[in-house]
Amino acid sequence: MNLSRSSAKPLPPPRLIGLPYDASSSHLRGSAEAPRLVRAALASPHWNTWSEQGFDVRGTDGFSDAGDLPLAEGPESREQIERGIRDLLASDARPLAIGGDHSITYPIVRAAVGVHPSLTILHVDAHPDLYDTFEGNRFSHACPFARIMEERLARHCLAVGDDARQVQVGIRTMNDHQRAQADRFGAEIIDMRMWEAGKRPVVNGPVYLSIDLDGLDPAFAPGVSHREPGGLSVREVLTLIHQISGTLVGADVVEYNPRQDLEGVTATVAAKLVKEIAGRMISELQ
Ligand code: MN
Ligand code: MN
Repeated sequence: MNLSRSSAKPLPPPRLIGLPYDASSSHLRGSAEAPRLVRAALASPHWNTWSEQGFDVRGTDGFSDAGDLPLAEGPESREQIERGIRDLLASDARPLAIGGDHSITYPIVRAAVGVHPSLTILHVDAHPDLYDTFEGNRFSHACPFARIMEERLARHCLAVGDDARQVQVGIRTMNDHQRAQADRFGAEIIDMRMWEAGKRPVVNGPVYLSIDLDGLDPAFAPGVSHREPGGLSVREVLTLIHQISGTLVGADVVEYNPRQDLEGVTATVAAKLVKEIAGRMISELQ
């Protein structure tokens, strides 16, 4: 264990969990099919199982796999996800979730704050996902970070804590409503123009990483429901993962839509991100 890190107790190893849920998508369904395909890409013989930072993610100290959580189509899915992640955390594992649409992040974070009450959320996305409500749905994949942040402001028992922060990277679809929401919640936005100008996130303490694949440029990751040109490269997101300065207590990779993909290239990108996140988590066990 690296004693320079500030975690009160050693962090457990990562555990994959598939969340095959896309009923809160506003535009296209399909991301529920993602976990199986990302796992298949991860296991492909075209590459090895070592992360760039030098850890065998399928070795003896590597990740385990909880399989897919069976999920309903209705609102009860949120409780199922929260319970599933709570169980995973109780089994002394760190959640590395494969979505699913982005609505899954809200119940995951609700479970995670039970263990880490002062989370920083690092969120990679083309979209802020801060709508108060979207097309009449407060739990749409366009809303998870509004729900997460308003629980902090309300000081609910599951609040993410006084020190909690949200930092968004890759944003390039901001509108007036979401700007007002970001200001209201104190969310820090590093939009693509700021990123291009050299601004990078500084995060400390327990960090939860949420990667919406549409944060990447569709040239790299076309298999998403909302293609938004002008995004991050795969290399930039990998560097972001490698350089997170806090302890990585959980993560998700969401919004892979196989129905939009070209030759499975986005499944490979998603698997690469999962592999490097797992490697980053395993590095904290050393
Ligand atoms: Mn998005
Ligand atoms: Mn999103």
